[in-house]
Amino acid sequence: MWESLHTVRKYLWRYRRGMALGGLCLVMKDLAQALQPLMIRGAVDSFRSGSAFVRFAGYLVGLALLKGIFQYWMRVILIGISRDIEFDLRNDLFAHLIRLSPEYYARTRTGDIMARATNDLNAVRMMLGPGVMYWFETSLTFILAIAIMTRVDWRLAIFAVMPAPAVSLAVILFGRVIHDRFENIQAMFSDISSRVQENLSGVRMIRAFVQEKAEMRRFEELNRAYIAQNLRLVRVQGLFQPLLEALIGVTFLVVLWVGGQQVLAGRISVGSFVMFNTYMGMLVWPMIALGWVVNLMQRGSASLQRINDILHEQPSIAAPPDAVSLGAVRGDIEFREVTVDYGSGPALNGIDLRIPAGTTLAVVGHTGSGKSTLVNLLPRLFDPTSGAVLLDGIDVRRVDPAELRRQIGFVPQETFLFSATIAGNIAFGVEGATPEQIRRAAEMAGLASDIEGFPMGFDTQVGERGITLSGGQKQRTAIARALLREPRILILDDALSAVDTLTEERILTHLADMMRGRTVILISHRVSTVRQADAIVVLERGEIVERGTHEELVAAGGYYAALSQKQMLEEELESI
Ligand code: ADP
Ligand code: MG
Repeated sequence: MWESLHTVRKYLWRYRRGMALGGLCLVMKDLAQALQPLMIRGAVDSFRSGSAFVRFAGYLVGLALLKGIFQYWMRVILIGISRDIEFDLRNDLFAHLIRLSPEYYARTRTGDIMARATNDLNAVRMMLGPGVMYWFETSLTFILAIAIMTRVDWRLAIFAVMPAPAVSLAVILFGRVIHDRFENIQAMFSDISSRVQENLSGVRMIRAFVQEKAEMRRFEELNRAYIAQNLRLVRVQGLFQPLLEALIGVTFLVVLWVGGQQVLAGRISVGSFVMFNTYMGMLVWPMIALGWVVNLMQRGSASLQRINDILHEQPSIAAPPDAVSLGAVRGDIEFREVTVDYGSGPALNGIDLRIPAGTTLAVVGHTGSGKSTLVNLLPRLFDPTSGAVLLDGIDVRRVDPAELRRQIGFVPQETFLFSATIAGNIAFGVEGATPEQIRRAAEMAGLASDIEGFPMGFDTQVGERGITLSGGQKQRTAIARALLREPRILILDDALSAVDTLTEERILTHLADMMRGRTVILISHRVSTVRQADAIVVLERGEIVERGTHEELVAAGGYYAALSQKQMLEEELESI
């Protein structure tokens, strides 16, 4: 439990002043509280002298007031800090998550991440706030009560603390079981979140394949297992508290009996006897709270471990400590002996390729031949297994990825639009883009006329809370987004596949204008798209099997020539 607190040290340290103040309130509150039974003793023992009794009664009221005031501030300050830490931790978690590599997201379920960012974060806050606060509060109450009791009658005090070892043992044993079961429950909650998230994302698929019943059944099973796990936890917790209370009850009896005898024998005063019982009463709540606190701490540390799993995940691609600045980028690209292996054989194998600044390279090839892999290397979505990618002769791994990526307009094969306006989506990542710039980018991407038809023009909401764009409209939005940045290098990964041939030609003409003097990599299946390129390469199983201009490749009579032939035939058939 304490070693997991170690990892939030930096957050605790940030609020050290507040914690010191809250801690002071805690100590004062406990002191005021611990002195109360002493005043009760004084009052009881001075029943006969009225003035002393009134004085003790006055002290008692004063102490109660002080206790109340300090308790209030203790809670406000310490619980407030736990909220602040939660805030910091949530921000750090989010900042960390958006830096993690695509590879991390490929092996982690979204629902699992969501569960950790909500449920687990909450458990951590409960540990750092109420958990730690009550831990110290009850410990101090214990120490003070026992110290005072020992001074009055150490023999009786021994009887009073008799259950302590048994309580510790129970706390340790039960604590471990609670921790394990809670960990189990949080893992299951992750499963459920993931299931829900996947189902909601794939809801069309589920309906199309009539899987509603099956999915409901599977969800119900998961849900049932989750409840069963929770009941297992409730069972140990349910056992824990009565056990503590029984221990305390027995101690009460012993103290009453032994203490009563002491009074009868005249060894202690009636006031001391009442005082002992008051202390015992005072210790009941801490002992019960201890069970609850142990619970909070165990849950919190289980959850903190789960959050730490994310925080310890290294972003695989980060700026090197001695990053080189690119300066003014010309746009010379070179792949040198590049091999990429995802773990099941090479997806790219010894690629050697130069794309001189200001030229357009087209890449064609079957699906799975490695085209996307090739272009993903340039903005460093991942790094090659061996070999190097160079921009203007500089290995891209030596550059700060942020600087590198600002030079590249990247339109990935699968586009993603945010729940924002269409203008917001186009201007994504470009602060202070003017409406005029946005409109121009939309025009060049062949999207402007579509947008005019939208209910609110450029201010139309798209995505989850707005209109649904067609595949072609999404692609063109992504193109406009890339063009707005006026990048030195433009990468279109099959970015026109959902656009009809006419629109495509219009877009390409615009692009040719805008991209003059810039480097373009164009992946496409359509010969009509790639024929104008300065150079064309054909990829096959991760290797370049043909390279040259359109005319050269047609003359060579390989894959490209066949593709060209086929598409020309198709066009002729269409025109008939
Ligand atoms: P293309 O874009 O030409 O269709 P890709 O570059 O997407 O080809 O894929 C090349 C090969 O690498 C394929 O066999 C594909 O299954 C594999 N591959 C692509 N991305 C990953 C990945 N993230 N993890 C594992 N294998 C991958
Ligand atoms: Mg691809």
